Amino acid sequence: MKKCIFLFLIVSIIVSCKNESQLETETIKSNPKQAEFSIIIHGGAGSIRRDNMSKEKEAEYRQKLEEAIRVGYDILKAGGTSLDAVQKTINVLEDSPLFNAGKGAVLTYEGINEHDASIMDGKTLNAGASAGTKTVKNPINLARAVMDNSPHVMLSGFGAETFAAEQGLKIVESNYFLTEKKLKSLERVKASEKNKVASFYNEDLQDSKFGTVGCAALDKHGNLAAGTSTGGMTNKRWGRIGDSPIIGAGTYANNNTCAVSSTGWGEFFIRGMVAHDISALMEYKGFSLKEAAKEVIQNKLPNIGDQGATGGIVAIDKNGNMAMEFNTQGMFRATMNDKGELYIGMFTK
Ligand code: ASP
Repeated sequence: MKKCIFLFLIVSIIVSCKNESQLETETIKSNPKQAEFSIIIHGGAGSIRRDNMSKEKEAEYRQKLEEAIRVGYDILKAGGTSLDAVQKTINVLEDSPLFNAGKGAVLTYEGINEHDASIMDGKTLNAGASAGTKTVKNPINLARAVMDNSPHVMLSGFGAETFAAEQGLKIVESNYFLTEKKLKSLERVKASEKNKVASFYNEDLQDSKFGTVGCAALDKHGNLAAGTSTGGMTNKRWGRIGDSPIIGAGTYANNNTCAVSSTGWGEFFIRGMVAHDISALMEYKGFSLKEAAKEVIQNKLPNIGDQGATGGIVAIDKNGNMAMEFNTQGMFRATMNDKGELYIGMFTK
């Protein structure tokens, strides 16, 4: 009997050692240092096609993406933090009516704006988020204030707005965010819903072209950060909150792996924990950033649910490798490295 117990103990120890070693972090594949600092942004993914965009509109988007990324680039070049670069870059996109964040964000069923945002520090794994705010001019600033100046990670609705006011953040009348274009979009989506020609999130409906904004950056101190800001989805109801303010879904940053900002059909990004999943594949499976992003966006995401989830991510790793992966017809995107080399893209390839 004693022998049996002894044998059982030995086997248990061996099994538990094996389990532990399976959890050990793999060596992450990363191309050698690409850049001392780098920045990457997106302005949403969706039905963005060359044949449905005028040359003038394309130029407008290019100009705004460049203006935004240069703000972050200058901060990083001067030795500033990736957190500041992410926040200030997103501010430019929030202030532009071109995107679905801040001014010009999409409208809810009731015809108002409700904003979600989040930011994460890869060095400390500290994070801040806000959801469903209606009067905070720059929701990413609120997310940053939640992270820096509150004991919480996520605030919502009226409480979040009260905190924003206490923090001295800019508060505006809700009609500041409203644009004619988004009003028309709401009408069209509602009409198509009535006629049952479109599902809740039909990518072919111009109006559901996403437009969320996000940024990830690596600074000279080797720290990663990411942030995301959005108005969510046209015609959303019942206080719906998407992935953008959810840490691990819409935003994730970890100095050991990468910084990620997501855009797309939020419900699926939440269910797939997309941003963290990319980091986890790097940490536990030793994937490179590009391999992890591809696996999650091209293979895993489309298999969640039966409608095929769409969207994309931008991400950067600790060596300045960058990934821009999307399974939609396009994604507004831009990158800049420490040499000041700028890339701007919109369509597939
Ligand atoms: N992910 C956002 C949401 O579902 C929408 C978007 O990225 O455009 O709220």
